[in-house]
Amino acid sequence: MKKWLIGVDLGGTTTKLAFINLDGEIVHKWEIPTDISDKGVYITENIAKAIKAKLDELGQTNANVVGVGMGAPGAVDENTGIIFEAVNLGWTNYPLQDKLSTATGLPVVIENDANMAALGEMWKGAGDGAKDLVCVTLGTGVGGGVIVNGNMVSGISGAAGEIGHMTSVVENGYACNCGKTGCLETVASATGIVRVAMEKIESNPTSSLKKILDETGSISAKDVVICAEAGDEYALSVLDQVCFYLGLTLANVANVLNPEKIVIGGGVSKAGDILLNNILKYFKKYAFIRVRESTSISIATLGNDAGAIGAAWLVKNKFMK
Ligand SMILES: [Zn+2]
Repeated sequence: MKKWLIGVDLGGTTTKLAFINLDGEIVHKWEIPTDISDKGVYITENIAKAIKAKLDELGQTNANVVGVGMGAPGAVDENTGIIFEAVNLGWTNYPLQDKLSTATGLPVVIENDANMAALGEMWKGAGDGAKDLVCVTLGTGVGGGVIVNGNMVSGISGAAGEIGHMTSVVENGYACNCGKTGCLETVASATGIVRVAMEKIESNPTSSLKKILDETGSISAKDVVICAEAGDEYALSVLDQVCFYLGLTLANVANVLNPEKIVIGGGVSKAGDILLNNILKYFKKYAFIRVRESTSISIATLGNDAGAIGAAWLVKNKFMK
């Protein structure tokens, strides 16, 4: 029997779990709800119970498991596995690694969730084995993960790679959840795209976006993409503006790091080519020439599995050396 790695992607509403073999292939995956009541005190115990129950079900034991890797939504101390802060879970200076290790009886490694997704894409996804890679995740927020020479860049306080909070893009922009204004996240996350679209929607009464708003009372980032693909001029202009912010920011990131690949993931990345081509237009405009010629951008390929697969990679590399 070959050994398994356990990858966990801890989210504010759902926790994704997977048994993954040493080649990075998912053997079994499932989800449990995340119980954030009482400041998240039940989270580690629930994960341990879910792992134990699934191992029992499949006729396996801890002896067959190398360890557990978990991506968490917050800044992490990579040496101790302490979460500095995870606002959505109610954690401050929370000893997550110790708690989960005690609950499961297994070695545990913790990283920021965006970093885990970057590792996953590096190992089995669009990164295609590239050792210098930047991953940007466009979802409810905008996350970032930076890998240099195969190593995660965490920074002195676990806050490296916060591409979503780069603020050079919109002067005097919208207020961000982080307390600043004008962050990339405020205009390029799913909610940010809607915000940009709502700005001039009333002065574009013939746009199909306006029709959707009138009929349903709201619009989504997906509506913007679908209308743009159908040739709606206003939707195209919204997408163009969002891609300007993304292309400019990613060009600046690439000018510092000159990664082999930039991988764009998260729910918004499902927009595919129309998003990628528009980002590339501005990326090529603002990137330094040698960067433009050597750094490529592509859409993530692992979808929701990226975090768990990256967590498994970290388990393999930390506990099997
Ligand atoms: Zn911010």
